[in-house]
Amino acid sequence: MDAEEFRTRGRQMVDYVADYLETIGSRRPLPDVTPGYLRELIPNTAPDKGENFNNVMADLDRVIMPGLTHWHSPQFHAYFPASNSFPALLGDILSGGLGAIGFTWASNPACTELELVMMDWLGKMLQLPSHFLYSESVTGGGIIQSSSSESALMALLCARTEVIRKLQKHNPDMSKGQVLDKLVAYTSIESHSCIERAAMIGLVTIRVLPSDDHGALRGATLEKAVKEDKAKGNIPFYLGACIGTTTRCTFDNLKELGPICTDNNMWMHIDAAYAGSACICPEFRYILDGIEHADSFALNPHKWLQVNHDCTAMWVKDKDLMEGAFHIDYYILRHVNNGVRMPDFRHWQIPFGRRFRSLKLWFVMRSFGVSGLQATIRKDVSLAKHFESLVRADSRFEIVAEVVLGLVCFRLKGDNNKNERLNQLIKEDGRIHMTPSKVKDMYFLRFAICATRTQEADVNFAWDIVQAMANKVIAMSNG
Ligand code: PLP
Repeated sequence: MDAEEFRTRGRQMVDYVADYLETIGSRRPLPDVTPGYLRELIPNTAPDKGENFNNVMADLDRVIMPGLTHWHSPQFHAYFPASNSFPALLGDILSGGLGAIGFTWASNPACTELELVMMDWLGKMLQLPSHFLYSESVTGGGIIQSSSSESALMALLCARTEVIRKLQKHNPDMSKGQVLDKLVAYTSIESHSCIERAAMIGLVTIRVLPSDDHGALRGATLEKAVKEDKAKGNIPFYLGACIGTTTRCTFDNLKELGPICTDNNMWMHIDAAYAGSACICPEFRYILDGIEHADSFALNPHKWLQVNHDCTAMWVKDKDLMEGAFHIDYYILRHVNNGVRMPDFRHWQIPFGRRFRSLKLWFVMRSFGVSGLQATIRKDVSLAKHFESLVRADSRFEIVAEVVLGLVCFRLKGDNNKNERLNQLIKEDGRIHMTPSKVKDMYFLRFAICATRTQEADVNFAWDIVQAMANKVIAMSNG
C-alpha cells in the first residue's frame, strides 16, 4: 500500500468507524456466536501473496461484526464504561502514524515531555496534592501506564523492593527470600482482582479484609489485621485501597486508612480506575479526601474521560523510588539531559517500549475542555440517578448500594434464585446487556451507564425490559 492508497483507505476506514458509531444503537449489544465461530470464517494460514485491501474491508462485516460486542451501544450497561471519542481516535491514528517509541527521553523527547505536562493538567483537574505534580514538586510525578492492573503491580513491586532494601540494610544476613516470606499486603474483599493478582505475581501474601455495611474498608479493620501480622513476626508493607469498587462502586475510607499506612511504613496505593475520573467535578472531589496519604494513585481515562483504550494515569509521590527500584544502566540508552531532570519512563513500567499515548489525552482535553468532560460525567451520574428512581418506585425491587456515580446495583426483593432467573431472562432477551455481581452471598444486578451516547430514553427502554422480565420471574415463582 503506498501513501496514495493509504489516503483512500484511511478515508474509507474513518467512514466505516463513523458509520458504525452513528448507527450503533440499531445493533443488539451482544453478538450471537458460539466459541470457535471465527476459525470457520478465515483460512488456517496467512496468505502467501498480499491481497487487495477491498477483500480485507469486506471481511470486517463478514468476520468481525458478527462476533463483536458493542461496548458503545446505548444499550450496553455491563462492567464499567470504556471511553471512545473522535478526538481520542485521531490521537491514536497520529500515535500509530508517527510510530515513535518513547522508552527514554532521548528516544522521543516529545513523547516524554507531553506526557509530563498532560499528567500535570489532569492532576490539577483532580486537585491532587502538589507532591504528585512535576510542576509543583521535585519528588512526585505521573506516567501513563497501559492499565490499572499494571499500576497496582508496579506500585507493589516498588514497595516490595524498597522494604527488602531497608530490611537488608539493617539485617545484612537476611536473604530476599526470607523477607518475601514475611511480607503481607492488604486489600478489601470488594476490590478489583488486580490487587490480589499483583500480590500473586509479586510472590507476597495478601490478606483480603472484610468491608463494612457500606462496602468500605475501614481503618479499624486494617489496624487489627496489621497488629495480628506484626505479632506473628510478619511485615505489613502494602495496601491496595479502592475508590469505586467494581462490584458495587463503594469507597474505602482513605482518611482512616492513610494514617495507619504511614504509622506502619506501608505503601498505600489507591486504585480509582473508574471513579477517579468523576473527581474532576468539584462536587465529587470529596471522594479523594485522604489521598494526601497515598504513595501512588491510578485512574483510567480510558474508562470515563473520553480517551479510548489504553490510557491509565498513575501518579507517585516519590519518583526516585519508582525510577530506582528497577533501574538498569544500559549503555545504548545513555543520553545527555544538559542538567535538566527528565524521567526515562522505561524504569517506571514493565514493558520497555511505549506508545505516544499522551497525544490522545491532549486532543481530548483540548477538544472537550474541562467543562465538557465534567458535563459527560454529570450526564452519566444523573442518568444513573434516574434509573435509581425508577427502581425505587417499584416496591418489588431494592437498591443494594448507595448510588454515588454512574452505577446502580439493584435486585428483586427475595432470594438469589429469583435474581439469577431475572438476569438469565434479560440475557436471553438480548436487547440490553448487564453483568450481575455477588457480595457477601447476595446476588444482584449492576446497571452501569456506559456509552457516551446513552440518554434518558435508553434508560427508560432498559427499565421497561427489566420490569417485563421481572413480571415473568414473578409469574414463574407464583407457579
Ligand atoms: N480496578 C477497578 C476498580 C476496575 O473496575 C477495573 C476494571 O474494570 C480495574 C481495576 C482493572 O482495570 P485495567 O483493565 O485498567 O487493569
